[in-house]
Amino acid sequence: MKLLKSFRVGTLFGIPVDLHPSLLLIIGMFAVVNQAVGLPWYLVAVLGILKACIIYASVLAHEYGHALTARKFGFRTQKILLMIFGGAAFIEGDWVDSRPKDSIKISLAGPAVSLALAIVFLLLAYGTASIFNLTVANPLIELFAWTMIINAILFVFNLLPITPLDGGRVYRAILIMKFGLRKATDVAYYTTVVLGTVLAIVSLAFSSLFTAAIAISLIFMAYQERKNTQIQSELF
Ligand SMILES: [Zn+2]
Repeated sequence: MKLLKSFRVGTLFGIPVDLHPSLLLIIGMFAVVNQAVGLPWYLVAVLGILKACIIYASVLAHEYGHALTARKFGFRTQKILLMIFGGAAFIEGDWVDSRPKDSIKISLAGPAVSLALAIVFLLLAYGTASIFNLTVANPLIELFAWTMIINAILFVFNLLPITPLDGGRVYRAILIMKFGLRKATDVAYYTTVVLGTVLAIVSLAFSSLFTAAIAISLIFMAYQERKNTQIQSELF
């Protein structure tokens, strides 16, 4: 059952972008929990909203990395969806299982965009701070530093060899080339269960419920993917 339907905000590079309404909750939350010293409350709230928007704009750029690379290999992207837990590019066709080499390039393109953005915003933060003699307490420098950190996190997190993260896709594609689809899916699944559980425990140890929830949902998604592959290999 779908409680809330996502809505279309526009089309960029010929690919529609949908937002899930739960995002608005996170954006609202950032307006409340954001902290800044020496600024009136409404500016603190605006800064918080900007920070939340930067997260999802960074996710969107990451997804376009996947979608536009997929287009280069002849795969159409139906839409890009931004959700509370991140984003997804709905790339059509059997690119994951039957084209492992293309799948590696499509999977690495997202983290490559995140890394490039992290470097650009690191330089912007450093450059602007030293030219105008500012510290990270300055809202503009804080936003540059925030964008850098978000993209660095997107880069590192997505490269974990956990299915269906980008690193997991690359890992599985390498396994497919070596062992075939069925065994590759099994190995990738067990790796995800182990690493996902470790990630969930570490997240709980650091009281990060959000990351723990992501880790558990990744295990669930890897389970679904393995079940689908089993059904497929029974069908064909
Ligand atoms: Zn990605």
